[in-house]
Amino acid sequence: MARAYESPIPPPDPEPVLNAIPAVNGKHHDHDDQELFRAVATGYAPCTCEDDDETPATGPVDLERIRRAVREILIAVGEDPDREGLLETPARVARMYAEVFAGLHADPRTHLQKTFTQQHDEMVLVKDIEFASCCEHHLVPFLGKAHIAYLPAGKVVGLSKLARVVDGVAKRPQVQERMTEEIAEMIMTELQPRGVGVIVEATHMCMTIRGVKKPGTITVTSAMRGLFKTNPMTRSELMALVYGAK
Ligand SMILES: [Zn+2]
Repeated sequence: MARAYESPIPPPDPEPVLNAIPAVNGKHHDHDDQELFRAVATGYAPCTCEDDDETPATGPVDLERIRRAVREILIAVGEDPDREGLLETPARVARMYAEVFAGLHADPRTHLQKTFTQQHDEMVLVKDIEFASCCEHHLVPFLGKAHIAYLPAGKVVGLSKLARVVDGVAKRPQVQERMTEEIAEMIMTELQPRGVGVIVEATHMCMTIRGVKKPGTITVTSAMRGLFKTNPMTRSELMALVYGAK
């Protein structure tokens, strides 16, 4: 039987008898578990600076903060975060999130800024670009493939750069619809082609392991710009190349 574990963070005290430790240099700083234990042991409340605010991350990932949060989740679901198998889990999950959300700290547009001039006015299509992203509603993965086509207007980009754009956009808390639009928009803005067509197919773990529990469901989204939007012939050429002629 799993034992219920108490969080080291004391519940709000109804009698405010503890003396507050002032914020260090009047500045905001992170509280570690040690500080909280010390606070409990000495009868001093943890410092008054508001560490639990909703400040969005602006810089590199705060691994220590994720670690504490994951430990809290384990306690909250009734687990024992101090049992052997879970000891390293919070820190491991923190490193994983840093990797999975690395796209928050990079601008995928930079991959499209090195272009070269090429008189190729037919469609360029990169098919089956595999990606792994994380659904922002449930923080579980969605996995799939992106197909990207564009009709150059004198400017082309290295083919691998299109795959890098997909990766950069995928490595953020995402929804598939927005991801599809973002890729199309970036290519449209940076390459100024005559048209862009982006098709994304993915399976969502949040539909597999929870909720409706429908494994095998594939969600397809597309974003068409320029000639891919206005010219049915161009669009059906793309569909034929991606899915095979019908
Ligand atoms: Zn979801």
